[in-house]
Amino acid sequence: MIPAVLVIGGGIAGMQAALDVGNAGFKAYIVEKEPSIGGHMIQLDDVFPTLDCSACILTPKMTEVGSHSNIELLTYSEVISATGHVGDFKVRIKKKPRYVDEERCTGCGICQQKCPWKVDSEFDMGLGKRKAIYTLFPQAVPNIPVIDPEHCAYFLKGTCRACERFCEAGAIDFQQREREIEIEAGAIIVATGYDIFDARLKPEYGYGKYNSVITALELERLSCASGPTEGKIQLNGKEPQGVVFIQCVGSRDKTVGNEYCSRVCCMYTAKLAYLVKEKVPGVKVTVCYIDIRAFGKGYEQFIERVQKEGVIYRRGNVSEVYRRGNRVVVRAEDTLLGEPYEEEADMVVLATGLVPRGDARELANLLNISRGSDGFLLESHPKLGEIESGVEGIFLAGCCQGPKDITDCVIQASGAAGMACGLLARDRHYSL
Ligand SMILES: Cc1cc2nc3c(=O)[nH]c(=O)nc-3n(C[C@H](O)[C@H](O)[C@H](O)COP(=O)(O)OP(=O)(O)OC[C@H]3O[C@@H](n4cnc5c(N)ncnc54)[C@H](O)[C@@H]3O)c2cc1C
Repeated sequence: MIPAVLVIGGGIAGMQAALDVGNAGFKAYIVEKEPSIGGHMIQLDDVFPTLDCSACILTPKMTEVGSHSNIELLTYSEVISATGHVGDFKVRIKKKPRYVDEERCTGCGICQQKCPWKVDSEFDMGLGKRKAIYTLFPQAVPNIPVIDPEHCAYFLKGTCRACERFCEAGAIDFQQREREIEIEAGAIIVATGYDIFDARLKPEYGYGKYNSVITALELERLSCASGPTEGKIQLNGKEPQGVVFIQCVGSRDKTVGNEYCSRVCCMYTAKLAYLVKEKVPGVKVTVCYIDIRAFGKGYEQFIERVQKEGVIYRRGNVSEVYRRGNRVVVRAEDTLLGEPYEEEADMVVLATGLVPRGDARELANLLNISRGSDGFLLESHPKLGEIESGVEGIFLAGCCQGPKDITDCVIQASGAAGMACGLLARDRHYSL
């Protein structure tokens, strides 16, 4: 039994799992495909129902992961093959070149200041800019930038090299190449999370057609003090006077093949509606919903609180969003009153559902685990085995197994770590 656990994915679920494994005295590797750990949670503003600032509760955990003596972080890396069996997995990992020497870089940030090339920031959902050499966000772990060769003038034209000139540590290395690493682990925890439903697949809502139609994750970035508008809820420099939220975009919708409920959208809509009300004086906020699912501890009370703050909830289906002058109009039917209505707005926010990651099939094939009919990774039993994958020694944690909130991700991750450590605690494994 190799006394180490490989955790694939460094979102909240992967981090929690690795910390629990590390604190139990075993070695944990985290393989994260992005340049930093953090996952979706680090993109959020406040979190429901407590309205804690997401970064404030997550960054201490990220720092703990980064400095833990039992945790080895492999960022900007992906698993390319896995062989072996419970107790003795052999995993090959591809480490992409950062073009920055991790040993030498001091994280001073001067390279990013001096880089003259600006690109849309993926982290800010294209609403803000980053440089061609960048860290995903200021509190990135590790705090080491990467060069994006698709936008770097040196890679495109052989010119510039400003980052190299100003780097006192001599850490810029344009010659860096992709590397392969092999590690051994007794157990694997998959924590690769989710993607956001592509709102363009519901063209009737006008996403991608009207600038005033945005997704909830985009609103998270606008609302965030460290985001592109420094926390001001603004589009094109203007505060909206009317905001309409449309729930269940890409969830509970057979027309797009997603019959399941994404579980978090009712609650994050309530949270964002509350934040908009708080930040924009006099704004009218309306939520168009099908049903309200507030299943967690304190969630029902939170929905009530938001309604008391003046957020209007209207039950019914939205049929379309169209332009009228400078504003957009949401056309819907109120199924409680049994009448159609129209609501003018300056901002429409789509509560897009959670979908399996684009590479979920590839990952499942690579690890020889199954996916359910919804495309998420399949647990061994829907009631009694939500953590096991069905392959001995491979466990699931967080949204890779199905949509869930942060609370449930953390619980499942701790469960997966407990089961993995339980295996590792025996010096050999006898399969039944
Ligand atoms: C708009 C919005 C608002 C939300 N607000 C709240 C809230 O207020 N409260 C709340 O409880 N929940 C909220 N949620 C839900 C919350 O985001 C999730 O519960 C949580 O972030 C899921 O964590 P995770 O670790 O499972 O997945 P993720 O956060 O998706 O992390 C997965 C990680 O794995 C990495 N990865 C993926 N594939 C691979 C691979 N093949 N190899 C290596 N690494 C890989 C990814 O890069 C990522 O870092 C919200 C969701 C949305 C969309």
